[in-house]
Amino acid sequence: MLEVAALASRYGRIPALDQVSLRVAEGELVAIVGANGAGKTTLLKTLSGVQPASAGSVRFQGAEIVAERPRTRVQRGIVQVPEGRQVFGPLSVEDNLALGAYARGSAATAERVYAMFPVLHDKKREPAGTLSGGQQQMLAIGRALMAAPKLLLLDEPSMGLSPKLVAEIFGHIAALKAGGTTILLVDQNARAALAIADRGYVLETGRIVGEGPAAELLHDPQVRQAYLGH
Ligand code: ATP
Repeated sequence: MLEVAALASRYGRIPALDQVSLRVAEGELVAIVGANGAGKTTLLKTLSGVQPASAGSVRFQGAEIVAERPRTRVQRGIVQVPEGRQVFGPLSVEDNLALGAYARGSAATAERVYAMFPVLHDKKREPAGTLSGGQQQMLAIGRALMAAPKLLLLDEPSMGLSPKLVAEIFGHIAALKAGGTTILLVDQNARAALAIADRGYVLETGRIVGEGPAAELLHDPQVRQAYLGH
């Protein structure tokens, strides 16, 4: 579904990604693990088009999209859940969800999102800013689902959440994958991310330095040393 080749991205003269190549097959859940500042957010932003690529190729379902605008990529089905949720605090939960469907231009309904996250239904008329961190993460994922993603880009969904909520959110992500959504997930919580992923890549200072089946990466001594606290 997604084929990235020799992708580079920079902030002014500072390189953030270099020679990044990876693939995500339809139906797969792929995790990118890496330390703070490795370039994980930049990678997702370059795939969604929010951050321009300075070199390389991004092919989605066979089409070269590296120069396309973010809106066009959303219409193709590439939808990003940004780091830090970025919900619209003063707007109600239901209005946040409605905005997620904006690029679809059709009468998308929130029923699927409410079925997955009943608490959002209970709070649908409340300002999103009054929700807890975990509920805001559910809303950010729900808003992305409103755009009918084929490829969901998830940036640090576990950030700032308690272990119990991390388990809950990752359970929902695994359920989305089981339901057929293709997912590219980046998270500093490498253990939780690899536990639900099919495959993983290790990103270090803007370069891919390792890849493999998620179960193998979980047991790789270097990955354990650097990212799993062993
Ligand atoms: P984190 O988990 O902390 O978000 P990350 O792996 O997502 O880290 P990025 O946010 O992609 O990493 O950052 C990669 C590199 O690019 C870092 O060195 C960072 O300081 C730099 N960087 C990120 N955003 C900008 C920006 N807007 N301007 C300049 N440099 C930036």
